[in-house]
Parts: sequence; C-alpha cells; structure tokens
Amino acid sequence: KQLRLQDLNEIITSLHPLLMAQAFKKDKQLVIDLGRIPLLALDEHEIRQLLLNLVNNAMDAMKQRGTVTIRTYVDGERVLLAVRDEGEGIAEEIQSKIGTPFFTTKAHGTGLGLATCYSIVERHRGRIDYETGPKGTTFFIAFPLEAEAK
Ligand code: ADP
Ligand code: MG
Repeated sequence: KQLRLQDLNEIITSLHPLLMAQAFKKDKQLVIDLGRIPLLALDEHEIRQLLLNLVNNAMDAMKQRGTVTIRTYVDGERVLLAVRDEGEGIAEEIQSKIGTPFFTTKAHGTGLGLATCYSIVERHRGRIDYETGPKGTTFFIAFPLEAEAK
C-alpha cells in the first residue's frame, strides 16, 4: 500500500460531517482542534478508518453526555493526533487485553476496532499510546516526521 505525503488536518476536516452526524446521533459533543503540522506520509483511507474507530470508542465510553476532542499538534520530532473522551476510563484488568482481535466489553462489539488501529499505526511507522483514568481516556497517535517533508 502506498503512503502519500499529505495533510492530516485535511483528512480530519473531510470526515467532519460524518463525525458530527455520529455525535448528534449519540448525543455527544465533538471538538476539533487542528494545529499547524507538516505534511505526513499517509494512507488516506486507513487514516479515516483509524479516526472513525477511535472516535466511535470515545463516544461509546461516555454513558452520559460528554465531549470528544480531536487534536493535532507537533511534539518535538513527531506529529501527534490525540482523541480524548470524558468516559470512565479503561479498567486496569482489561488494559492488557484491549487491541487483541475480538476482545470487547460491549454487548454488540466486534473487538476489532483497536486491533485495526494498531496495525494501521504500525504501517505508518507510528506509535499508539493512551492515558486513562476516572475522568476519561486519551489515545495518542504519534507519526514520525518525514525527512522530505521537513
Ligand atoms: P469494540 O469497540 O468493538 O468493543 P475495540 O477494539 O474498538 O472493539 O475496543 C475494545 C475494547 O476496548 C472496548 O470494548 C472497550 O472495553 C475498550 N475501549 C476502547 N476504547 C476505549 C475508550 N476510549 N474508553 C474506554 N474503553 C475503551
Ligand atoms: Mg471499537
């Protein structure tokens, strides 16, 4: 698969109508905060899938109303995409299991969302990480800066 040098913010913007519709349907707020970032070597289709999976999980994590925040920014030698929710966090007992194909805590979950995210991030030579606690979870996707884009 071909990675092409392109604007991550534009991919996020192109998903905006779909994300807004999902937020409306699930009665959640959505905030998008796009920073100044360089072009990255990306597969547009995969990045859309990554975002949808992370945002869907973020919305599912909030039983009541709440806000999902998507942010892009530069952090040292990397570009970060952060997806934050105001859910109850990922229970410690399941932290070692999430991302394993078919592991889900949802009645109608597939357990494939995070596994797909992990392989997409790997193909982009990025890193996926999260911080979680009783006030919510943030998934961080770090993309390496491409030499030719610097
Ligand atoms: P699915 O969404 O179908 O359950 P995923 O692979 O996307 O499958 O997620 C696996 C599990 O990880 C979820 O069932 C949930 O328990 C946990 N999880 C993922 N994202 C979050 C989040 N933002 N907050 C809390 N738990 C999460
Ligand atoms: Mg999911």
